[in-house]
Amino acid sequence: MSTISAGTAQPLPDTELPGPTSRQPEGPRPTPPAAESVATGLALVICVVARLPHRMLDVTGIASWGFALLVAVSVVSGARALARAPFTLPRSLRAGPNPARALRRWAAEELRTVALTIVAGTMVTLPLYALIRATPVWWLPAWLMFAALTVVWQVALPVLMRLRANPSTPTPPSLAARVQAVGAKARLDVGDVIVTGKPGARCGNAYVVGLGRTRRVVLEHDLAAWPPDLVDQVVAHELGHWRLGHAGRRLPLTLLAELVALAAAAAALSFSPLDAVGIAAAGDPRSYPFLLLLGALVALPVRCVLAWRDRAQERAADRFALDLLDRPGDFDAMLQRAADDSGVPRSLPWWRLLTASHPPIDERVAACRRGRPALQGTKGT
Ligand SMILES: [Zn+2]
Repeated sequence: MSTISAGTAQPLPDTELPGPTSRQPEGPRPTPPAAESVATGLALVICVVARLPHRMLDVTGIASWGFALLVAVSVVSGARALARAPFTLPRSLRAGPNPARALRRWAAEELRTVALTIVAGTMVTLPLYALIRATPVWWLPAWLMFAALTVVWQVALPVLMRLRANPSTPTPPSLAARVQAVGAKARLDVGDVIVTGKPGARCGNAYVVGLGRTRRVVLEHDLAAWPPDLVDQVVAHELGHWRLGHAGRRLPLTLLAELVALAAAAAALSFSPLDAVGIAAAGDPRSYPFLLLLGALVALPVRCVLAWRDRAQERAADRFALDLLDRPGDFDAMLQRAADDSGVPRSLPWWRLLTASHPPIDERVAACRRGRPALQGTKGT
């Protein structure tokens, strides 16, 4: 999926073992502060070192490996929720004037997140553990599984986006006509346009989703309400991804990255690192937090390579939009608005840039102005 304004790639969720490196829908959801990421990472380390899944399974006396995996996933999800609490709770309390209501909302949200993480984590890891237990070359069928999921996800995403779209706010015909006019300029038949998200949800992103005939332009609600001249620029950037075939080029590299990450995880496990934490075999569900750590470690270089490729595609889409509409002042204003309204970072420290899917706004503005000297000295960074 290509977007206009994603910040940095999200950290690996609980469910993400080395395989699925395709990106999730990424709105301008703020990246968690570094301290919060470190705390949830540390929670995982504590699960491994303190052997929390062992202890919980000893208490429950569960023998079936499937239920044992459910317990291990629950332990990790619970530990991460506890580690997040000192960051998420004050944020929720600051967000509303009524502390009791904010507390209830925070608790409900956290419970929902933990429940979803347990369900999704168990669903993804059950077949993976079945393969690890069945064959030493588990990484090959596991890759086929993740590859199939990646392709199905890409094709099905427009359908999911349509389901998420608010039926009470259909796409205004004038907006659809504008998007189609920009499409005609780019010699693309864009079909219908999807508007998604709730008003006021600080959702200022846009995407091209789907593959082949399912491909569609998606605008989040708040971005769709921007001045039409700026929306044109966003659409032109998105159509740049479409016209330059970015999704099609991204897919083979993503599948290759998944294969490399899984093979690297299998190679690392062949050195029996689990012995050190009291686990006899990788197929033992007690290994779950350790496999998550290992997955994050082997996936990191792969994520860096994919992010580097993504940033190159973003620069190409920016150049496409500038050439297509030839309104660099509006393009510059669109980038400023993305930073001001949608919280897209103007700059990033080097270690965040390594896994960032988009160049920071300052860099994109500078590139826009470099090619258009008349813009030097206009408002902005
Ligand atoms: Zn983009």
